[in-house]
Parts: sequence; structure tokens; C-alpha cells
Amino acid sequence: MIIASNFKTNHTRISTKEFLEKIPQTPLQIRIFPPFTTFDNYNLPKNTLLGAQNFYPVENGAFTGEIGKEQLDEFGLNCVLIGHSERRNVLNEAESLIIEKFNFAKKCGWEIIYCVGEPINIREEGEAAVNEYLKKQLEKIDLNYEKLIIAYEPVWAIGTGLSATLEQIKATHSEIKKLSRAPLLYGGSVNVDTILNIVNLNECDGVLIGSASWKIEPFLKMIEIVNNNEKGVI
Ligand code: PEP
Repeated sequence: MIIASNFKTNHTRISTKEFLEKIPQTPLQIRIFPPFTTFDNYNLPKNTLLGAQNFYPVENGAFTGEIGKEQLDEFGLNCVLIGHSERRNVLNEAESLIIEKFNFAKKCGWEIIYCVGEPINIREEGEAAVNEYLKKQLEKIDLNYEKLIIAYEPVWAIGTGLSATLEQIKATHSEIKKLSRAPLLYGGSVNVDTILNIVNLNECDGVLIGSASWKIEPFLKMIEIVNNNEKGVI
């Protein structure tokens, strides 16, 4: 079971260090995506990895403001987030760059959490439209890549406090599982009250959490809930 936390543009070097020091040793696979400025050589429990929220698909070069492989290598980082809806929609990252990033990360052998999700107007059109939309988002990447993890994150549920219903997650996960055997996460306003029912869905292999994971106490609580759950380790 995978529990990933996306800090987005939150936390400092000091608060990240304090946060990471409290992560317990568990059989769960924990992934933390803090801001670049907080990277360091932390002594993390087994199964806990730091990842990069973003990178530019180059070794190094003239790409002002960007971080390449050379910079991630310095911290031994080999786990990346690609296709997050805030990068797609707020930072206007083009689909072509997202695919380029996927191919680069695959060539590097990095673990990739690849985010897909429909906007509200597509959800309102119904399940068939959602499935078609997600299929298009997934069709240009190698769905057999062995270090691929797919995160289903409906755009309308991210940072809004609105979660997809269990039925919606279940139905959408089933469709994605027809396309890929990669571990499958759900993300979109997951919190201490909702995490258990979500991870207990048949085809759910974990969660990607934003706002509810920024404070250590609820994050530890969510780890405890999943760890004590009988679905256990995948
Ligand atoms: C996210 O950032 O991937 C996310 C799911 O955020 P939130 O949990 O705040 O909706």
C-alpha cells in the first residue's frame, strides 16, 4: 500500500526536517514530495522515499529556473511526480512536455507517479466521458513501465474538500486497471475520515494526499489507519 504526500509550495527546510523525523518505520510504501529547497540527505525509514514534485527532462543545461537530473542525483532522488493537475492547469504544462518528462524519467529508471484526472465538465457528462478522457491522458505513455504508479485525481476534487464518491473511484479505477497493471492511487481531498474506505476499495493500491498531509499529526494518523487495516501490504 502506497501513501504519498504532496507538500506543494508548503514547508521550509526546518519544518520538513521535523516532519520527516517523525515518520515511523512501517511496511507501507511512503513517498513525500517536498519543495526542492528542502532536499537534503535525510536518514529516512526503510520504504520511505523523497520525490520531486517537478523536474525538467534534461541532465543539465540552459533552462532557467528548472531542475534537471544532475540536481536530483545529488540527493539520490529517483522518484518523481508527473502530470499533476496543478502543473497541467495552473502552470499550463503542455501534454507534449508531460510525455517528454515521462519518457525521460523512464529512461532514468525513476519511479513515476503519473497523475490523471478529469475536469468537472467531463465528470458531469458521465462515466463514459470520464473514461474516454482518462484513456486519452494515458494512451501516450508506456503503461507497462515497471516503475509506473498511476494516481487517479479528479481535477475538481484536488484541494477543494470535495472527494469523488467511493462508487466513482471504484468505477474509474476498474477502467484504468483494464489499461494497466500499475499500482493505482486515488487523490483528491483524502483525509483522516475518508482514507480507510478509499484504501479498502478493491483496486486501490494507495493514496496521494495534499492538504490533509501537511501537518504531521493527521499524516501519522492516516499512516496508522492504513497500517492497522487488514488489507495490509501490497
Ligand atoms: C494533490 O495535491 O495531489 C491532492 C490530492 O491534494 P488534496 O489532497 O489537497 O486534494
